[in-house]
Amino acid sequence: MSKRDCYEVLGVSRSATEKEVKKAYKRLAMKYHPDRTKGDDALEEKFKEVKEAYEILNDPQKKAAYDQYGHEGVNQSHGGGGFGHGDFGDQFGDIFGDIFGGGRRGGGGAQRPQQGSDLRYNMELTLEEAVKGISKEIEIPTLVHCEQCNGSGAKKGTQAKSCGTCHGQGQVQMRQGFFAVNQTCPTCRGKGKIITDPCHKCHGDGRYERSKTLSVKIPAGVDTGDRIRLSGEGEAGEHGAPAGDLYVQMNVREHEVFVRDGNNLYCEVPISFTEAALGGEIEVPTLDGRVKLKISAETQTGRMYRMRNKGVKSVRSHSTGDLMCKVIVETPVKLSSKQRELLKEFESLCSSKKNKPKSEGFINSLKTFFDDLSK
Ligand SMILES: [Zn+2]
Ligand SMILES: [Zn+2]
Repeated sequence: MSKRDCYEVLGVSRSATEKEVKKAYKRLAMKYHPDRTKGDDALEEKFKEVKEAYEILNDPQKKAAYDQYGHEGVNQSHGGGGFGHGDFGDQFGDIFGDIFGGGRRGGGGAQRPQQGSDLRYNMELTLEEAVKGISKEIEIPTLVHCEQCNGSGAKKGTQAKSCGTCHGQGQVQMRQGFFAVNQTCPTCRGKGKIITDPCHKCHGDGRYERSKTLSVKIPAGVDTGDRIRLSGEGEAGEHGAPAGDLYVQMNVREHEVFVRDGNNLYCEVPISFTEAALGGEIEVPTLDGRVKLKISAETQTGRMYRMRNKGVKSVRSHSTGDLMCKVIVETPVKLSSKQRELLKEFESLCSSKKNKPKSEGFINSLKTFFDDLSK
């Protein structure tokens, strides 16, 4: 069954805040709650859909995975996983009771072995690495499939036995007065099977802890917040169930020279005031080394020069961003007496009307300002 978009289900925009999501959910949950809809199957489905969408959007990690990969990105096992659970129970437990049962899916049979948890690895990258791409070895502590018992947990040559208490059902019926309640079997803890002779290597779990090394290929152009999913590289599942996924989350460190905004790079380049006045050629840094940039005469400080295609090549399209160089006119310091003299002479030759475009405008607006005040 293909699932509807979570944002659509809750009727909120993609930029909705946590509060807006909560509000939308409360409204819909009230509307479709089974206590009110009285056995209408279609409406009950609707309630489930709303609840599921909320559980994803209310969990920052699930939301991030969903935003990037859609429903695929969110752990569907509901039994566990590195993404944790929504706080549905906390919020509505008292009002509604947990009708559908958070973790009790699949009815009365023995619990199926759980899929392995998803893992997340935070990868720090320099700007150069992020822009050019790189292969990196990472080491992650995880649970791996036990090859000794092939994940069964039973010692080699032996087999798990069906649980005698629950006859393999994983649940037992308890009577309390008039009520019969199904409970998780205390003997096998819901698994339906008992391992009498556990595997030495994994102590009956079917998986054991080990740190594994993976080589991760980071494509050129990634940025902070991007994730790479390595399917099946998360924790091994219980007793041979499928493994979870590994999400490698990028975090690009600040650079000394460049600030990145999407695929554009920004940098500030100091120029002398004579260069600014007379114009000339300066050297500016790019991620591929220095390039020459022509400064036009009479350049004011703060002027932005755009260097096309000297930015970052996008990881998603074939476009390349630009490098934006902001020139900052430097005031000369530690002047010699000769330099002072020349500057004084220079200043005496300047008139604010002709040589100082900013001053002229500034003085005019000051005049208007004070005139307005005195009115
Ligand atoms: Zn084993
Ligand atoms: Zn049992």
